[in-house]
Amino acid sequence: SKKVAIIGGGPTGLTLAYYLLIQGVQVAIYESLPVLGGFMKTGIPRYRLPQETLDKEIGFIISQGAEVHLNTKVGRDIKFEELMSKYDAVYLGIGNHDPRMTGTPGSNTAGVYHALNFLQDVSLGSMINVGKNVVVIGGGFTANDASRTSMRLGAEHVYIMYRRREIDRPGFPSMNAEEEMEETVEEKVQYMWEVTPFEYVSENGHLVGVKYWQNEMVIEAQGRAKPVPKKEKVLYIEADTVIEATGQEPDFSFLGDKYLRQLRLTPHGTPIIDERGMTSIDGLFSGGDCTNATRDLISAVRDADRATVGILEHLNIMDQIADEKWLPILDRWKKYSATAGRSKK
Ligand SMILES: Cc1cc2nc3c(=O)[nH]c(=O)nc-3n(C[C@H](O)[C@H](O)[C@H](O)COP(=O)(O)OP(=O)(O)OC[C@H]3O[C@@H](n4cnc5c(N)ncnc54)[C@H](O)[C@@H]3O)c2cc1C
Repeated sequence: SKKVAIIGGGPTGLTLAYYLLIQGVQVAIYESLPVLGGFMKTGIPRYRLPQETLDKEIGFIISQGAEVHLNTKVGRDIKFEELMSKYDAVYLGIGNHDPRMTGTPGSNTAGVYHALNFLQDVSLGSMINVGKNVVVIGGGFTANDASRTSMRLGAEHVYIMYRRREIDRPGFPSMNAEEEMEETVEEKVQYMWEVTPFEYVSENGHLVGVKYWQNEMVIEAQGRAKPVPKKEKVLYIEADTVIEATGQEPDFSFLGDKYLRQLRLTPHGTPIIDERGMTSIDGLFSGGDCTNATRDLISAVRDADRATVGILEHLNIMDQIADEKWLPILDRWKKYSATAGRSKK
């Protein structure tokens, strides 16, 4: 039977694995971490996502017969080229795991983290001593998760520093943004709007505080308000831990030069895919956070749904659908795919 390699064991990779397995396709998942689940396991904190339910669902998917390679980073432990030659199709479900740090002076001091590393370490069982005062940099959902996790680790004061106004924060306006902020404030996290941290201060190798400026919001020609620091006055806040929740990017470098040259990207640096989820490289499909702009769970699942049809078509086995009861799910994508279900007519 046909074999598909899935790079990344997050929600998009797991969903695809499930749909392919029940259609009789052999699936191998390559995951760099020691656990499956992607950001469901190592990003979204446990108090928001019950782990027993998650583990049960992952266990159910794997029990359908997936071959799982944990602690296996493609590009480091196995060559991408090898997967491309060994499998009939390959799916990129690698998410966005390359942390974008601000490069603020003092970033190398112990106690300065990127939120992704911080949340991952906590979820994998590290006991991080955050001290009394924690400063989280950034205004998005990840900043809320990092701040509330810090509270649970025993911090007394947690501040979220954001360079723009409350109404400019990512995700606003939306019910999600409102709810998340409400819960964060309820847990006594304090927001500091319109500030620019410019130095992480340490004494004897230990982080002790953050120097920052207050900003002034200046309306630009395009109508967007731009934060401009008022540098004449230096402000200071004590901090034992700084967590930068300042975004992340996908890392495609493991594809190697030959394939990178063939992979067509959008201006945002994500792979261009066709209506079946296939990239510009024949047999290479992509979905989830490394591909879509919405970067949420439901989109990751949707992308896998779409790629299921794309891959079944690519493998030329749409006419051998093993389990008819799933066809209504696959049918959803017919309108996006000129050829899906052709052999069923
Ligand atoms: C802190 C946080 C909170 C969030 N909260 C929500 C929320 O409340 N609601 C919501 O809808 N979404 C939320 N999201 C977003 C959601 O988690 C993601 O959209 C979703 O997990 C993306 O799924 P994915 O499978 O594309 O990628 P991921 O979940 O990131 O999984 C990708 C997997 O690929 C692995 N990988 C990467 N490179 C390689 C490689 N070279 N070789 C092998 N494996 C590799 C990674 O280790 C990872 O396990 C949150 C994200 C974060 C970070």
